[in-house]
Amino acid sequence: MSKKIATIFVILVLIILLSAALFLNKPTAAQPPKPINGVLDLSNWSFENNGIVCLAGAWSFYFNRFLTHEDFVRGVNVMPTALEIPSTKESMARFKPFAENKFYGTMRLVIKLPEGRKTYGLRTGIILTSFKLYLDGDLQGEVGKVGASRENSVPYYNILTTYFNPESNEVELIYHTSDFTAEDCTIVAPKIGLASQISQEVQLGLGRDLFLFGMLLIMGIYHFGLYIMRTKDRAPLYFGVFCLLFSLRMLLVGERFLPSHLNLSFFVYGRMAYLSVFIGFAALCGFLYYTLDGLFPKWFVRVSITLGSLFGLLFLWIPYSSADRLLMIYAVFGFALLGYAMIRLVIGIWQSVPFANIVFLGFAFLGITFINDFIYQITLRNTPSLIPFGVAVFTLTQAYTLSARFSNAFTKAEQLSAENKAILSELKLLNSNLESLVKERTSDLQNALEEMEVMSKTDYLTKLPNRRLVFAKIKELIEQKRSFYIGLADIDHFKEINDHYGHVKGDEILVLLSSIISTAIGDCGFVGRWGGEEFLIVLEMDEFDSILKKANEIRRAVAEYRHGDIGKSITITVGLCQYRENTSLDILIARADEALYQGKLAGRNQCIFKADEKSENVV
Ligand code: GH3
Ligand code: MG
Ligand code: MG
Repeated sequence: MSKKIATIFVILVLIILLSAALFLNKPTAAQPPKPINGVLDLSNWSFENNGIVCLAGAWSFYFNRFLTHEDFVRGVNVMPTALEIPSTKESMARFKPFAENKFYGTMRLVIKLPEGRKTYGLRTGIILTSFKLYLDGDLQGEVGKVGASRENSVPYYNILTTYFNPESNEVELIYHTSDFTAEDCTIVAPKIGLASQISQEVQLGLGRDLFLFGMLLIMGIYHFGLYIMRTKDRAPLYFGVFCLLFSLRMLLVGERFLPSHLNLSFFVYGRMAYLSVFIGFAALCGFLYYTLDGLFPKWFVRVSITLGSLFGLLFLWIPYSSADRLLMIYAVFGFALLGYAMIRLVIGIWQSVPFANIVFLGFAFLGITFINDFIYQITLRNTPSLIPFGVAVFTLTQAYTLSARFSNAFTKAEQLSAENKAILSELKLLNSNLESLVKERTSDLQNALEEMEVMSKTDYLTKLPNRRLVFAKIKELIEQKRSFYIGLADIDHFKEINDHYGHVKGDEILVLLSSIISTAIGDCGFVGRWGGEEFLIVLEMDEFDSILKKANEIRRAVAEYRHGDIGKSITITVGLCQYRENTSLDILIARADEALYQGKLAGRNQCIFKADEKSENVV
């Protein structure tokens, strides 16, 4: 999509370029005659059909004299110099009857106009640095103050347009001109045409310059604002500076639409016009560096800014008459930088650096107009100033580049934010999954731990407390100073059961007996598996009789249960003893074991109580 827009944009720019070129090189239908020896014969020229005539050719020039219409009527005895207009320092130097190009004098041209009375317009371009225009002896206007010496003259920069109704078909133009300031003897050929044609040209020029001024000013302010809002990106700053400088330049050169009563001095005009070139070019280089990321080296922007500032400062300091020489030196550096920039831009296009093509297009066009402008500035030849078009095209292409960069950055930011959102929600989901997984695992672990806790205290077969738990429970009773009895119960002839009915049956019977014993104990205490086919019974009772009674109840509960599958009942023998304070558990158990052994010896299926010292058999 953006590629398509870029292509359309390039085509549009090319159309603008082409139409500008066509417009500028518009061939005139007919070539007008040229002034020869101060006389121009336009008697056969049709202004209506062939348009305005540029008064370029040989004018009569009288150095060091201000001659008037009356003088010429009376007759002048000096031979004029045939001076080719437009003139430059070089063309003037051929005559050079004056020192250091400082001069004053009279320029005269007699024009033979076509038949018929019409209103004409005369447009005088730059005549450095001051002039006075007379038409048939009537003063039409003065730019600056013409004088025979530096003290008597005032330089100024302006264009003069005048309209007149000639009384006859012959009109005499007399310019008094002097230059003690600029030393470049620039005289641009004036133009003559019908009043309507000249006025149209003035209006068009004014419109064009005002349009460019407004456009550059707004662009400058806009990009400056952009930079202030986001100082991180310096591209809009440099572009803003460039636009503002060239909008200022539009005020100074071209149609000069500044109000005439502002009366800025020639030096302010001149210096600002030069400064805008120095600093404007540096700003351009900065713009290139910051817009095309990585395409230009840092030195490029450093050198251009240093050069711009250096020449700018030098220019403020040196005499105005040396300005042209300084501009020439700057031009060498400027063209070198421009050439380098073009090469880098071509490389940028080759490497598909974003926007390099559009920047190149705008820059190339501006480069051409810069060259044109340098020639214009240095020689002030009557070349049409391309810079307004160059600046317009360049500004539009670069503004497009900047806005496209911004738009790309926003699109990227939007994409990133959307991606971030997606990642965030994914992360949230992952997190919640992880949380539930952790919960699940934790509860599994908890269960496993609980199971292990139970397993570590429970006998796996009978589910009775194992020896460890029985010990712990007994210790608790001891700590609480409770009185209790213990009984060690052993299944009688259990080996035979295993031998006859198998180990599995033996296990079943072990489980069954555990439950019978447990039930028989009830609230009176608890039972645990001591090991093998032995159980440890703890009875929390303090009367001896009731102990024996309870023990026999348990024994009987076991004996009375008839195991249908093996066709008989199973008995247990129990050895009992009482816990006494300060008796160790080992001694206690040993005592119960002794009683059990006695029970076995005495024929099994009985409860034997082992008193502290003596033993007693009780069935
Ligand atoms: P007594 O009356 O003298 O105690 O005879 P007894 O056969 O019970 O004694 P003995 O110590 O000779 O044998 C104990 C038997 O108990 C041996 C063993 O096979 C059985 N026994 C021990 N623990 C288990 C068990 O967990 N499961 C099964 N099925 N048998 C066990
Ligand atoms: Mg045993
Ligand atoms: Mg046994």
